[in-house]
Amino acid sequence: METIQYNLPQSRIPRTWSNILPALPAPLAPPLHPGTLKPLGPDDLAPLFPMSLIMQEVSAEPEIEIPEAVRQIYAQWRPSPMMRARRLEKALDTPAHIYYKYEGQSPAGSHKLNTAVAQAYYNKQDGTRRLSTETGAGQWGSALAMACAFFGLECKVYMVRVSYDQKPYRRALMEVFGASVTASPSNETDSGRAILAVHPDSPGSLGIAISEAVEVAAKDGQTKYALGSVLNHVLLHQTVIGQEAIEQMAMAGEDPDVIIGCAGGGSNFAGLAMPFIGLKLKGRSQARVIAVEPAACPSMTRGRFTYDFGDTVHLTPLVKMHTLGSTFVPPGIHAGGLRYHGMAPLVSHVVDLGLAEAVSVQQLDAFAAGVEFARAEGIVPAPESNHAVAEAIRQALFARQEGIKRTILFNLSGHGHFDMQSYIAYHAGMLENYEYPAGEIALALAGLPSVG
Ligand SMILES: *Cc1c(COP(=O)(O)O)cnc(C)c1O
Repeated sequence: METIQYNLPQSRIPRTWSNILPALPAPLAPPLHPGTLKPLGPDDLAPLFPMSLIMQEVSAEPEIEIPEAVRQIYAQWRPSPMMRARRLEKALDTPAHIYYKYEGQSPAGSHKLNTAVAQAYYNKQDGTRRLSTETGAGQWGSALAMACAFFGLECKVYMVRVSYDQKPYRRALMEVFGASVTASPSNETDSGRAILAVHPDSPGSLGIAISEAVEVAAKDGQTKYALGSVLNHVLLHQTVIGQEAIEQMAMAGEDPDVIIGCAGGGSNFAGLAMPFIGLKLKGRSQARVIAVEPAACPSMTRGRFTYDFGDTVHLTPLVKMHTLGSTFVPPGIHAGGLRYHGMAPLVSHVVDLGLAEAVSVQQLDAFAAGVEFARAEGIVPAPESNHAVAEAIRQALFARQEGIKRTILFNLSGHGHFDMQSYIAYHAGMLENYEYPAGEIALALAGLPSVG
């Protein structure tokens, strides 16, 4: 029988997260204090994060040990499966071999739980009582709410208004886990009130919700802030994905030629890609590494690589990243998890160094790919993951045109069971492509902070 699944035993759950920072050929630009524009020190971040996570943010250790309590929770869904998409290959009539790493089997339905568990653990160790956070599509909020329930922490979630209205089941899930969920922008914070004063009908954005969650943590000594993507420590926690995939590709007896992940803030992409980029830096992999973003929110393919704020109200440090401008409110596409104005500094940096490339995909092409994948493989991808699926299919079709075998590995970051409303809209012909919103982005870029 042909092999479909490449499963690792529970004993092969990685014991360390792999940190690419010390291996990079050039260091990351330092984050800057939003007031002084001087490089941040660890103490500047202490009101928001426990020191253990702050130290991971800047760690020079190539490997960071995963606490046993975190590994024990990982054991519920890790090692995650890697599958060969044989029926999709046949449907595409391609000589390519298509593999996908599937993160949708976590109880939260996506990769987000990999970092949520770690962040809740370190906060609990540090004596935090409550975590505040933002969520776009709701995947991060539900993962953090679940992790907080495991560790006995309270959880406060600011959910982007359009998702709050579009996705009541995600909200209900967070509430099942005991979280308190508020639509953002809200009247609960100065940041939210400032936005509502100017845009009473604001659909919200991740940048606005981050401002609200950060403000709450900054003002309350017992509340800390948790971010579901973008930061180095978040990307670090996701490297279990790529480490397992390296072993699973070895089981399959193949080396990937192309590695693909969708990118909103960059964490699932980095989780799969960074361990392979580590191999590339040692001359042990030649793979092309591709990050896929939505054409409606094209931070890497159309944005600028420069210092910008992580949030809309400018409470966060400045980081050097690909950005569309912190005041850019992306169109309400259904891949809510990809509607962020910036990109992880680490992902931006490896793209700038030429170690990875970025492409964009239109919303309708992403859904068409997701439906084609579902019909062949039986798994309905999250709308975000559809972007990776679309690029994987594109690469498989290139291989057919060229008549060469190509080994493709992509990250299926989550399932779409809570996103069926977007599939209903797709099948009803109600989804549209968005042209690159050049005018709005130019306006937002004009407001970039000037850093010498
Ligand atoms: C949040 C999310 C994303 C986007 O976030 P990244 O940090 O870029 O990974 C992608 N896919 C799924 C399923 C998500 O939940």
